[in-house]
Amino acid sequence: MKSLTIASGDVTPVTVGQSKSDAAALYGIDRWADDLLCVTPAGELAFKTPEAPDALPVSLPRIIQALKQRGIPAPVLLRVQPFLDRSLVRLQDAFACAIRDCWYKGAYRGVFPIKVNQQPEIVERVVDMGRPHHFGLEVGSKPELLIALAQSMSPDALLICNGAKDAAFIHLALLSLKLGFNTVIVLESLHEFETVHRIATDLNIRPRLGVRVKLMETVGGKWQASSGDRSVFGLGALDLVELAERLDDTGMMDCLVLQHTHVGSQVPHIMDVRRATTEACRFYAELSRMGAPLQYLDLGGGLGVDYTGARRADDNSVNYTVQEYCTNLVESVFYAMEEADLPHPTIVTESGRFIAAQSAIFVFDILDATLYDTPERPAIVAGDHHLLSDLLAIETYINGDRLQEALNDAIYYRDEIRTLFRHGQIGLPLMARAEQAFLFLLSRFKKVAGQDGCSGLIDRQLSRFVDYYHGNFSVFQSLPDVWAIDQMHPVMPLSRLNEAPTRQAILTDLTCDSDGKIDRFVLRDGIANALPVHDLRPDEDYNIGVFFVGAYQETLGDLHNLFGDPNVVTISLDATGGFTIENETEGDRIAEVLTYVEYDPQACLATFRKTVERAVKAGRVDATERRTMIAAYKESLAGSTYFSTDR
Ligand SMILES: *Cc1c(COP(=O)(O)O)cnc(C)c1O
Repeated sequence: MKSLTIASGDVTPVTVGQSKSDAAALYGIDRWADDLLCVTPAGELAFKTPEAPDALPVSLPRIIQALKQRGIPAPVLLRVQPFLDRSLVRLQDAFACAIRDCWYKGAYRGVFPIKVNQQPEIVERVVDMGRPHHFGLEVGSKPELLIALAQSMSPDALLICNGAKDAAFIHLALLSLKLGFNTVIVLESLHEFETVHRIATDLNIRPRLGVRVKLMETVGGKWQASSGDRSVFGLGALDLVELAERLDDTGMMDCLVLQHTHVGSQVPHIMDVRRATTEACRFYAELSRMGAPLQYLDLGGGLGVDYTGARRADDNSVNYTVQEYCTNLVESVFYAMEEADLPHPTIVTESGRFIAAQSAIFVFDILDATLYDTPERPAIVAGDHHLLSDLLAIETYINGDRLQEALNDAIYYRDEIRTLFRHGQIGLPLMARAEQAFLFLLSRFKKVAGQDGCSGLIDRQLSRFVDYYHGNFSVFQSLPDVWAIDQMHPVMPLSRLNEAPTRQAILTDLTCDSDGKIDRFVLRDGIANALPVHDLRPDEDYNIGVFFVGAYQETLGDLHNLFGDPNVVTISLDATGGFTIENETEGDRIAEVLTYVEYDPQACLATFRKTVERAVKAGRVDATERRTMIAAYKESLAGSTYFSTDR
């Protein structure tokens, strides 16, 4: 087994298995894929059909190939409908199980927070699949409220209104009660209560109110700032007491039916969940004691996804399963309510990430590579500078014992030659051969380092010389959290998994931005800063999948360099290894992204026409050229923003 450690800095060193049978396991599929993926004997990554162990897996490269043939090329966002369904059912089942096991007397009502993924395909599917479970929606803004009001949920499902609410928001939320929506306006401030009071009185509608309580406990993870008494959200003890007084004064105490808390997304540690729940229950008990007829205990989001499969409490993983999460919540509420001698409330959670994350996979093709080694040794010619021979002579002592020395020497001689070039003492052709010599030595270093299992030091140094594989995508558009908050998603090639990967690469995107890259990868043994990849073959697609991107990534994405939405395809899987396209949304055309930044594509075309016409007048362009030029401009306006491999 060849091993090359490719980690550096704060990441755990990773030994990359290179033997044939290891190639698939190397990417850690068994750890993070949560039983949704497998590798076929042909070395293709495939979707498993949830809850149908006998069904044939559906090959991902074949899906991508089939879509390409239909004129839907990568980059493409694949939504796998059965994966979305599975998460929802799992959450529902886990609560049912916890409620049964704990002898809990209340019910569970889930709501899907629309901000996690507002796309109609997701929201409508959640509503459909959730109907038998009375699954509801959570909104945090007016646009999201309008989406929710356009859905047909079970009459028992909750519509939870969070966020800052102006009079129009509250007005509409109150009116929706008359339509049979089970709308709860969650008060985020004392001021909001005054608006609700005024409008409800005007409309003569009894509101159903909730209150967002600011917990004192803080929780770990990336969204720590959403918890604790410095959180910007919710009412602390002082405000709560004042609110209770206002409710009493206005005769509206009987409207307060729900208590809401949300400590942030992706809570890594199960103990934090328990502590926060227990504290939320204390507030619930106190508010009940003060006369609020509370029925619902809404514990918000936080249920995390194990993106790395590490099963530990860090930013991209969680140290609990969905069942543990639900059992912990139900058990904590059970004990607290028994102690307070209160009826068991209906438990509500807003677990959007858990429901949506696994259901989408982003796939892009690799266009090209910049390799940081070469098997070709440059020739020495008479009259070459001696530094070049010195550099090449290093080859004789690249071995286990002297590897570090050889690497130091190679860098030294290369830098000396660069200095000579800068000072005008050697020309470009010699410089080019020196660079080639260095790349040649690097290929030898990488090989020997792999064979002898060398020290971490040299491995870390060599990790600076991994390849760049250039992908047809934009990190900023499709994986914004990878760029903004170091979110990890599993990333791996979709095919040739029965072949040992021979290279290590960082994946760069199409944007002209040095941040436009993926350079941290989930592998079997931890996080590495390069992805094991295969040599590119001419005329053969090499596709990379980025997994579990269904939560938050779509609307947080931006138009950096004006790369727009990729194609989006929703599929369902059939048991015979095939799939069905349920929905297809073409990616942004160039004309569309131009309008997003306030250009009028027709006006642009008109100006371009004039420019061409002037060139015709001046005799620089003939009539046929004019026609091709205008056709090219028009064709591009109607075309994709991504790299086209059509011609
Ligand atoms: C963002 C948000 C959620 C979603 O939490 P996840 O755990 O990421 O699904 C739930 N509730 C509120 C109030 C939120 O702001």
